[in-house]
Amino acid sequence: MVEGSIPSRRTKFIMDCGLFGIYNHPDASKLTYLGLYSLQHRGEESAGIVSADGRRMHEHKGMELVADIFKRKELFEKLSGNIAIGHNRYSTTGSNLLKNCQPLLINCSQGSVAIAHNGNLVNAKELRKKMEAVGSIFQTTTDSEIIIHLLAHSRQGFEQGLIKALREIKGAFSLLILTKDTLIGARDPYGFHPLCLGKLSLNKKNSYILTSETCSLDLIEAEYVCDVKPGEIIFINKKGIRKTIFSTSAKPKFCIFEYIYFARPDSNIFGYNVYLVRKELGRKLAREKPASADIVMSIPDSGNYAAIGYSQESGIPLEYGFIRNHYVGRTFLQPLQSIRDFKVRIKLNPVKQVIKGKRVVVVDDSIVRGTTSRRRIRALREAGAKEVHMRISCPPHRFPCFYGIDFPTSRELIATNKSEKEICQFIGADSLGYLTMNGLLQSMPSPATNYCLACFNGKYPVKNKRKGNKFALEKNAIQD
Ligand code: 5GP
Ligand code: MG
Repeated sequence: MVEGSIPSRRTKFIMDCGLFGIYNHPDASKLTYLGLYSLQHRGEESAGIVSADGRRMHEHKGMELVADIFKRKELFEKLSGNIAIGHNRYSTTGSNLLKNCQPLLINCSQGSVAIAHNGNLVNAKELRKKMEAVGSIFQTTTDSEIIIHLLAHSRQGFEQGLIKALREIKGAFSLLILTKDTLIGARDPYGFHPLCLGKLSLNKKNSYILTSETCSLDLIEAEYVCDVKPGEIIFINKKGIRKTIFSTSAKPKFCIFEYIYFARPDSNIFGYNVYLVRKELGRKLAREKPASADIVMSIPDSGNYAAIGYSQESGIPLEYGFIRNHYVGRTFLQPLQSIRDFKVRIKLNPVKQVIKGKRVVVVDDSIVRGTTSRRRIRALREAGAKEVHMRISCPPHRFPCFYGIDFPTSRELIATNKSEKEICQFIGADSLGYLTMNGLLQSMPSPATNYCLACFNGKYPVKNKRKGNKFALEKNAIQD
């Protein structure tokens, strides 16, 4: 028998991370655990929590899913204190070792400091070289540790030192920082990735939360207060909440892929609901790339919301043509090598009685390598589809991302190397239609200039020196 690899996001090219922090709650670490649980989609490789009790800090991290790392109740006794931060990670920089798991907890000249980072820094290498030359000894290979070293080197006080460090780093960063008595949140001047502030009121006492997505506020029955602004830092401690703008040097460049694929549809990010944005993309797609068909269906789960929009706009009925097995875990035994496309089949199965003899519009959010799309279309044909018209709710991905979404190198992105006609042939569809760039931007809730579109047009808001993304996608990985 063969130990199968993991048919989950983990083996793929994703990345980004999930952040959750809470100030002033007697069950701070338990709530952080719940917050991380709801943000599991933002990183499945490792997770950790650091708590602070006013005097000391406590940590627990692991390289499994959140629920597996925090299985034992005693852990929460160890993670005592009424402030905590947590992090879900999928490595975009630094290898996948336990020491690279976040939050990173480091003792430095400024005291004990823990940091959790979502995004990628583009000047990490040069800053690290500079700091090592003056004696810094790095404990991890992640870019996030640099922030603490910059802080440690500062001769100014903690707050000024931190602000100076944030002005030196370049790239994408939504950050949570924890000291023994203060919770801090910050967002890079472009605001690539989301971060918001929430509030939980209990017995006339307020607890404050900083989190990547509002779905985690819903889970713990907290209310949304506001987004952390691009270029803003928020300090939360017994003096209250204090906000400071540390940089006005940039205009917002929200990661558009957070809306298209990455964030949870029940979250509001950058001020708007993700589900509704995706549905609008589907509506636009139906207007731009119509098809004569009998049914519309999605490739679950990521294509679900655009498929609803496509169906509503076109008037073609929506069917659940693929059924998902929700119990597909991280590893499984593959007892028979003879089953073709086993990893794809075990996750989604077409309903033959719905598909047979039908002209099908199949909607997905994106094509990256084209390999899973090809297998899904083959499965639809085997289920008896008469025609398969693939519709994609964003433009072709042609460029790698340097700010936290772990797209493969241009070489591996199918749209860099093939025309739409060739992609259509490769995936085996009767027709293929992508949403246009104009269509995408017209469907967005904020003005077009507010988004980072680098993965589509190669216009990188922050220049970087990295040539390619070394964290390439496993050839046969299965995507959601
Ligand atoms: P492809 O046909 O390119 O092999 O796979 C397309 C599928 O990948 C789509 O269903 C899309 O939702 C999914 N996808 C897009 N971006 C990501 C990502 O960053 N991580 C994972 N796991 N899947 C993704
Ligand atoms: Mg998908």
